[in-house]
Amino acid sequence: AEPSTPAVERTLVLVKPDGVRRGLSGEVLRRIEAKGYTLVAVELKQATTELLAAHYAEHEGKPFYQPLVDFMLSGPTLAVVAEGQGVIPGFRSLAGATNPTEAAPGTIRGDLGRDWGLKVQQNLVHGSDSTESAAREIGLWFPGL
Ligand code: ADP
Ligand code: MG
Repeated sequence: AEPSTPAVERTLVLVKPDGVRRGLSGEVLRRIEAKGYTLVAVELKQATTELLAAHYAEHEGKPFYQPLVDFMLSGPTLAVVAEGQGVIPGFRSLAGATNPTEAAPGTIRGDLGRDWGLKVQQNLVHGSDSTESAAREIGLWFPGL
């Protein structure tokens, strides 16, 4: 069988407040573009409790939920829609493992992430994990798109 060509799709990427504070927004955009993905929308936004409750609904009730929401409220987030073949799993590969301590060198979290003081939530970036999540999350962060 022919190797299948991944579909052109869109994903939601967030540079979380730690990444924006540390001046890494441009570095994340650079890696997305260097990989060959296209930027469809980019906007610096202050998240609200309502937006985060919807965005992180799957994690409600987990022990890290409230610290995560508080962290995400701590400053502006750079919201990005990126497009390309296989960009949903592709960006998660660029991002690396959730815990920056475990993330491989060459990944955003592996190269740039910090995990000082058990702050796993401060892992620089978010990337949608499925087609369904991507559609839902893009609708939340870019209602007009
Ligand atoms: P990912 O962002 O890799 O998809 P999850 O969806 O599991 O990871 O978790 C969402 C976010 O919640 C993570 O990116 C991280 O910021 C935070 N988080 C996940 N697990 C933990 C944890 N054990 N302690 C603190 N924060 C966590
Ligand atoms: Mg996730």
